Amino acid sequence: MEEVYILLGSNRGDRKNNLLNARNLIAEVVSNIFVSSAIYESQPWGFDDPVFFLNQVIGVNTNITPEQLLDKLLLIENKMGRLRSPARNSCEISGCEIHEQDQRYEARIIDLDILLFGNRLIFTERLMAPHPRLHERMFTLIPLNEVASGYIHPLLKKTIFVLLNECKDRSQVVLSD
Ligand code: ADP
Ligand code: MG
Repeated sequence: MEEVYILLGSNRGDRKNNLLNARNLIAEVVSNIFVSSAIYESQPWGFDDPVFFLNQVIGVNTNITPEQLLDKLLLIENKMGRLRSPARNSCEISGCEIHEQDQRYEARIIDLDILLFGNRLIFTERLMAPHPRLHERMFTLIPLNEVASGYIHPLLKKTIFVLLNECKDRSQVVLSD
């Protein structure tokens, strides 16, 4: 069993309901969620958009491989109607066409990112874990610190609490109601 932390994000449609639907689908197709952070409202990072994101971090215990988990999360994103920018690359996953996005950052109904997959270090083209920008972004560190402050980042060898205190990101992140 691996302890896995996933970041949920939404800045289109009924954002709170999108997070709820994603949590339900993850619980159904991946595994029970053993912890959920509060929901935070955060300024779009890396692009301008008047609609702020809602972000939340959840923890799940799972026996499936990191690649299988990524496939399941991408399918949930697709099922929930996430449209990606025009295709640059595409690949077939369980009969469902997944397109890589052209732009790095964009508005989205739902974004599901694997932050930590136990203590594993994964550096493949499709999957990086720990998430390579985990320690740079307050919208990730604040909810992650709420549920896993003592967790040691397996590459940086610092706790999430220390990474949060060292983070220079000053973009706005506030508790949502
Ligand atoms: P981002 O989340 O970086 O804004 P996307 O959600 O569009 O961008 O993800 C693009 C690709 O990032 C995915 O198709 C996936 O293959 C890849 N990826 C690499 N590492 C991860 C990770 N830790 N969690 C989720 N996706 C990842
Ligand atoms: Mg993503």
